[in-house]
This record gives sequence, C-alpha cells and structure tokens, in this order.
Amino acid sequence: MRAMVLHTPRQPLELRHLPTPEPGPGQVLIKVSACAVCRTDLHVVDGELTEPKLPLVIGHEIVGTVAAHGPGSEGDTLRLGDRVGVPWLGYTCGRCRYCLSGRENLCDQARFTGYQIDGGYAEYTVADHRFCFPLPQGYPDVQAAPLLCGGLIGYRSLVMASTNPDLGEAGGRLGVYGFGAAAHIVAQVARHRGHRLFAVTRPGDLEAQQFARSLGAEWAGGADENPPEPLDAAIIFAPAGELVPAALRALAKGGVLVCGGIHMSAIPSFPYDILWGERVIRSVANLTRQDGTEFLALAPQVPVRTEVRLYPLEAANEALADLREGRLQGAAVLTMDPDVPTGRETSA
Ligand SMILES: [Zn+2]
Ligand SMILES: [Zn+2]
Repeated sequence: MRAMVLHTPRQPLELRHLPTPEPGPGQVLIKVSACAVCRTDLHVVDGELTEPKLPLVIGHEIVGTVAAHGPGSEGDTLRLGDRVGVPWLGYTCGRCRYCLSGRENLCDQARFTGYQIDGGYAEYTVADHRFCFPLPQGYPDVQAAPLLCGGLIGYRSLVMASTNPDLGEAGGRLGVYGFGAAAHIVAQVARHRGHRLFAVTRPGDLEAQQFARSLGAEWAGGADENPPEPLDAAIIFAPAGELVPAALRALAKGGVLVCGGIHMSAIPSFPYDILWGERVIRSVANLTRQDGTEFLALAPQVPVRTEVRLYPLEAANEALADLREGRLQGAAVLTMDPDVPTGRETSA
C-alpha cells in the first residue's frame, strides 16, 4: 500500500510502499478513503510532540470502510464494508481512575492514532474496533473527515466553555481565537445554540475574518484588536501562548477560557487582576468516545458543513505546509483517490 511515512521529525514525510497491515486481536483493517490534516499532525512532524513511534504513519481523522477483522473481533458490531471514522483516541485501559470516572481522555495508558499507533496517511490502517465511530449519513467521506478531530475537539471545548452559565443565556458571547478547521465547525454549533460569535484571527488576515463572518461571527478582527464587548467564554485554537492574556482581558467576570490545542508556545506572565473575578483558564485534552457519539449525532442536526481543500495522498507535505503557513480556509483533507487535483475546494 502507499503510505506517507515520518522517519525523522522536522523532515518531510516520505512516500513508501508498505505491506498492508494485519489486524490484530480486536482490531479491524480499514481501507482508508480520506484523512483530514490536523494541527496536531504538524506538531508531530515538527517535533513539538516528542514521543512519536518511528517510523510513523501520521493522521487521526480517518474515514474508510472495514475491509477485514482481526482474530477475536468477528463478533463485534462492525461488518465488512461498514463506513467508520477513526479519531485521535486509539486505546484506553478501561481500569484507571480516569477511565472509571468518564474521563478516558486522561487515561494513564492512552494511545493515540497517528502518534503511537499508525494512522491514516495511507491506503490502509488498522484500528481497535471499540474506538471506531459510525459516521452520519449525508456527509461524503472527505466532508466527514474534519468532524473527527476539529469537530470533536471543538465540541468538547465548547462544552467546557459552557461551564460558565452566562454563555448558555440568550445571546451568550463566545470568542474564538484562531479561525481554522476546528473553529469553522465550532462556529456553526455555537450559532446553532444561539450564542453570539466573535472571531479573532492573525492580524490582517482579512480572508479568515470574512470566512468567520460568513459562518455567523458578528465581529471578526485581528489579534491586535479587542472584541467590541466582554466575552462570556473564549476558545483558543491557535498555538500562540500570547493569546492567553489577551483573551483573559476580553473575558467578563466568571468567564471561561479554554485552550483547545495539544501544544502552545509559552504563555507570557500576566497580572493577577485579569484572572480575578473568578475567570477560569483550562485546557482540553483529547476526546472521549462519549464526545464522539454526542457530536456525531449533533452535526447533522445543526447541520454542520465542512469546507475542505483536497490533496492527493502524495501531496501530504504540501497540505501540511499550507496549514503551517495559514493558507487554508477550513480543513485540508487527503484523499486516496489519485485523480483528485491538488487544491480542489469543496463544501457540503
Ligand atoms: Zn485508563
Ligand atoms: Zn487532531
């Protein structure tokens, strides 16, 4: 099978022809159709996440069909040909205090797709059948892929932001810092819930600001500007630590600030008075399968539409570069269909 393989961090992925992987006990073999590109992939490739298995097939927003069962998983609920999604969370122990309290996202033994487990930048992958999601109908494969991380993490971040009851009041005010793949999905869910939406982008990124307005932001500006009124909650998706004090300053009393990324540059020190007033800063780590079930049921009701730019598998390095340089609106998605021209944009 064709696969784009990371051999050494900070080096480009290399196209390799590998044997099709064999599903082990409890696993299924999945014929990959599409895999979205996540900022976490960049953090792995750029060496900011420091413990990848090597060599590694990255990618954790995988859509494909079940092609074979490993020993012992014939009796599971998946059938040959079923369409499934494979997310970042690839394994949990089921026994630790986190797993036993509904917080498997924090499991001490967790293993992650496209990091400790080979992922979806390849024609085939294997996954633990218990961590595969059925996908809602009505989403073509390339449109469904960004739901699996941008969508899920965005949803979990929004749930955490909602711990401030003021956000749930009519016209609760949500700020989103960094308007990429996750933000463009969470924006739609936030508007569906009746929140007022404020978007903060890189200074001068008028295209991203226009994109945010098209998805219901009533105000969109650069990180060098201030939202026009205090926010009840804010979510930071951009990996820039200097946004933390800026977003804190934008919060009303009792406001919640959620850091939705897995990696962020150092946060500058800030005066206590911008945290005072029971403002909260928290991170969101990974996802639970419950998040996935809830979000994938919600997405078609909103309905969430995903804007994607397609790349053939071999153009994975180009897709990563476009994400790194902020040249994308919405999500980059790799397709295993070799006839798709690089850069075709589609929304559904
Ligand atoms: Zn556990
Ligand atoms: Zn991700």
